[in-house]
Amino acid sequence: KGPDPDLVAIAERMATVKHKILILSGKGGVGKSTFSAQLSFALASLDFQVGLLDIDICGPSIPKMLGLEGQDIHQSNLGWSPIYVESNLGVMSVGFMLPNPDEAVIWRGPRKNGLIKQFLKDVHWGELDFLVVDAPPGTSDEHISIVQFLQATGIDGAIIVTTPQQVSLIDVRKEVSFCKKVGVEVLGVVENMSGLSQPLTDFKFMKAGEHGEQVDVTKAVLDCMREKAPELLELVAFTEVFDSSAGGAAEMCQEMGVPFLGKVPLDPQLCKAAEEGRSCFEGQSCRVSAPVLRGMIEKL
Ligand code: ADP
Repeated sequence: KGPDPDLVAIAERMATVKHKILILSGKGGVGKSTFSAQLSFALASLDFQVGLLDIDICGPSIPKMLGLEGQDIHQSNLGWSPIYVESNLGVMSVGFMLPNPDEAVIWRGPRKNGLIKQFLKDVHWGELDFLVVDAPPGTSDEHISIVQFLQATGIDGAIIVTTPQQVSLIDVRKEVSFCKKVGVEVLGVVENMSGLSQPLTDFKFMKAGEHGEQVDVTKAVLDCMREKAPELLELVAFTEVFDSSAGGAAEMCQEMGVPFLGKVPLDPQLCKAAEEGRSCFEGQSCRVSAPVLRGMIEKL
């Protein structure tokens, strides 16, 4: 029996991709897609050629997050063309294939695997420095498939996204052990939503009124500051949102012997941008910090 023709086709397609990075998380909602998108923008801003592939079949959020809902995928004799959000950043998502974004995708393993295979085989990325793969949460069929399908050409490694909460951290252990089992290097762990950092002037100040109601006193507070201590208006307030007494992801990484890449704070502007489907922040830098990015690139 000869080699599997699908795997041969995938290897051919991936021959023009220098680095393949999987973005994983133990749970949904921790910011895996947000991080995947931000990482892609950050790499593109460094002039790399980047592809962002969303294979979260049951909950593809990349199209909405990047304002690409309803876009049609074009096919040429070279394959499916990604949608370009920057001249050097192409996006492909299972979401582009669904007739209705509200429709739940209830597919069994083989069908999911078939689609992932097709994505890897048929998308015409061209020459890429980085292919960032936004995987579904957990470790299921899709993960085993993508690792298997890419085995011939290799995966550079995985980045695991977590929040500081114990419930999410516990699942990071599962992701790390999955990576060890299937032979994928853990490039590092990112702690997302790690505290809230916000300019003081963006806060709303509330006070309990006479009847227990909440009264907005923001204007009075800011006016008072402006008059008495205007330098305070420059402050950025930082608060731990989750209990940090357990040491968070950094400590866990040390214990497990995997690199800790850094923290990304809860950022209301980032959330707003994603809700509004703005691909990035016009004129502003991405939210993946330089140390996180450097830490990752250095490991490749
Ligand atoms: P996942 O891919 O892990 O399911 P998402 O990336 O879809 O998670 O993020 C879940 C929600 O949290 C989204 O509404 C997103 O905008 C928001 N979010 C993620 N990371 C941050 C952050 N650092 N600051 C603010 N909001 C965030």
